[in-house]
Parts: sequence; C-alpha cells; structure tokens
Amino acid sequence: MNNYQNILLAVDFSGFDHTVAYKAKSLAAQFNAQLHIIHVLDNIPMPDTPYGTVIPLNENSSYDLLEAEKGKLIQISSELNVELECCWMIWGEPQQEITQLAVKENIDLIVVGSHGRHGLAVLMGSTAKGVLYHAKCDILAIHLKDHL
Ligand code: AMP
Repeated sequence: MNNYQNILLAVDFSGFDHTVAYKAKSLAAQFNAQLHIIHVLDNIPMPDTPYGTVIPLNENSSYDLLEAEKGKLIQISSELNVELECCWMIWGEPQQEITQLAVKENIDLIVVGSHGRHGLAVLMGSTAKGVLYHAKCDILAIHLKDHL
C-alpha cells in the first residue's frame, strides 16, 4: 500500500469529532502525512461577505455565529497541531465541498465519522455515504457508536 501524503479530516462539531480526529491524527503520524481539516457551514445563514464561500480563519468578522464556528475549528486545529493554512471553513453542502477540496488539495485519504448529527441529516442520507460515492480517493469512515 502506498503511503498517504495528505489526509483530510471532516469535522461537523458533533460530540463525535474527537474520536474521528484522533484516529486521523494517528494515521497522519503513522504515514508522515500532512493533516488537513475541513468544516462545511451548512447550518447557519450565509451573510454578505467580501470573500465568497471560503472563510479566512485569520480575519475577524462581525458575524457572531461565524466567529463561534471559526473558534471551534481553530480549537480542534490547535489540539491536533495542524496549522491554519491546512484548515478550511467553507459554506456549502458537506459532501460536495469535502470531495471538491480533496481534489484541489491532492488529498489521498478522507477521514469521516460514520455519522454525526441526527434528525434531518439522518432522514436525508449520510455525509459519509455521499463522500464515499463521490470521492476520487480513499475514504476511512470511523465507526461511531450510537450514544450522546
Ligand atoms: P452525518 O452525515 O451528519 O451523519 O455525518 C457523518 C460524518 O460526515 C461526520 O462525522 C463528519 O466526519 C462528516 N460531516 C458531516 N457534516 C459535516 C460538515 N458540515 N462539515 C464537515 N464534515 C461533516
């Protein structure tokens, strides 16, 4: 098996993120790969921004909800020791943005949880399945037990 060089961890800020994150980190260490992190904003309204759908993490905005989401991504990145240049916050539809970024950043392994949120997301089909279907690289879906 070839070594992975670029691993993309997808986080939805559900209570399961840490389980998925630490597996991704340990794989990145094992393969000496660069770890990247993506969070897709699909649950807060998009305000008028000067920068389009990719949110710069090192600039402050006056939009509180956005700042709160940025804070969560920055927290995970610092826990995992991933520099902000390799972290992505993008407005859109998770499976689409995750798979598009994977192509753009030459990702060879995407790590997702087997599920994240509940409710509507469950009814509408899982992101993990969508990523598996659309991605052009390997996918690792971390099995998450039904608790929380
Ligand atoms: P779900 O389809 O919501 O059950 O989520 C399954 C997995 O897909 C999660 O554990 C995350 O790894 C990933 N995921 C879901 N929603 C997002 C999102 N908005 N941004 C990034 N990753 C996501």
